[in-house]
Amino acid sequence: MRKVVKFGGSSLASAEQFKKVGDIIHADKERKFVVPSAPGKRDANDTKVTDMLYACYELAEEGKDFTKNLQAIKDRYQEIIDGLKLKLSLENEFKVIEKNFKEKAGSDYAASRGEFLNGIIMANYLGYEFIDAAEVILFADNGEYDAEITNAKLKARLEGVEAAVIPGFYGAYADGRVKTFSRGGSDITGSIVARAVKANVYENWTDVSGILVADPRIIYKPEGIETITYKELRELSYMGFNVLHEDAIFPVRREGIPINIRNTNAPEDNGTWIVESTCQKSKYVITGVAGKKGFCAVNIDKDMMNSEIGFGRKVLQAFEENGISFEHVPSGIDTMTVFVHQDEFMHKEQQVVSGIHRLAEPDRIDIEADLALIAVVGRGMKSTRGTAGRIFSALAHANVNVKMIDQGSSELNIIIGVANSDFETAIKAIYDIFVRIQI
Ligand code: ASP
Repeated sequence: MRKVVKFGGSSLASAEQFKKVGDIIHADKERKFVVPSAPGKRDANDTKVTDMLYACYELAEEGKDFTKNLQAIKDRYQEIIDGLKLKLSLENEFKVIEKNFKEKAGSDYAASRGEFLNGIIMANYLGYEFIDAAEVILFADNGEYDAEITNAKLKARLEGVEAAVIPGFYGAYADGRVKTFSRGGSDITGSIVARAVKANVYENWTDVSGILVADPRIIYKPEGIETITYKELRELSYMGFNVLHEDAIFPVRREGIPINIRNTNAPEDNGTWIVESTCQKSKYVITGVAGKKGFCAVNIDKDMMNSEIGFGRKVLQAFEENGISFEHVPSGIDTMTVFVHQDEFMHKEQQVVSGIHRLAEPDRIDIEADLALIAVVGRGMKSTRGTAGRIFSALAHANVNVKMIDQGSSELNIIIGVANSDFETAIKAIYDIFVRIQI
């Protein structure tokens, strides 16, 4: 039995946090593969080391003096080393970093040093082997992560390795140039390592006790989610749940390895289990509710649209030609609406409108801006009657006008479009009806 444990930046922001992490790892013999992030914020006014590295490298790139900035980063690590009373010097590593910054090694290389250095400290602290992610996490020439080659290489490298630390967030191209994932990408590394060692669980340690039913910035102290499926999480992540990087699900999902989100500051909490499938019912009919503001609806009318073969394709072609992806396309007999991200669409709206006219010859096009989309997600909805009814009566009572409804055929989610200004009220109404007032 092997566990892969990934620790986020706030779990490794100081020596004190490192000690908590050490205790967590030592408390369970199965925690053999560790993926650290770079040191995060020690308090609300602090700066993440990754951000310090980006800023420092920017100076190097502009040919300006960056010594002070690099020294501040060095100090952050030294404080951790001293606090842990380690006999470790990162002097040589910093010399190499300075040289590479001067030679303009790239911002990916710069950012990756946060995890790289933290990995060296962690390996030294635990007495585990250090494996540079650049050797085992590989990217193809087009910049995409190469899952199969990485899996083969990582598996081979880890064969016979008892315990190791593999820094998160980065890998390399075949020629050795460092490449990072997008921000928060250490979550992906953890998942990749879990797949390679066929772990029985991927523990993702952060600073919250799991995933919450709704955004705490909107709902006061929302309930936590005990178990959620990969599919449900995917829907909610897309709509803004950001406990875990969106792409972190894919590697473990292939092997059916569950992810357990845990809190470094409250290790006794069970956290949230993210699983392939479960017979465990969620506590409420809905598993979670999330949403995003900033959408536009492009409403297209044409009499007899329903009998015109290829109409939808022509409309969507106009979006495609302008490089705009669409979110939802609810339709009626003579109407079709395309939901798009407002900031993406804004600059191209007239090209898209004329494109639709040219390609599909509609009667009328009308654009509605400042809309929000809300996803009500739950595996329990399938077997419960009246869910939609409860949502819409709650919204009606809260005086929220519903502009769009879209229920996926899997009955896993219901998407609702409302005005941006009604967004928070709508989330509150939905949360209350399912979680606070249970009937
Ligand atoms: N340190 C990187 C970031 O701040 C990656 C990570 O923490 O996962 O985005």
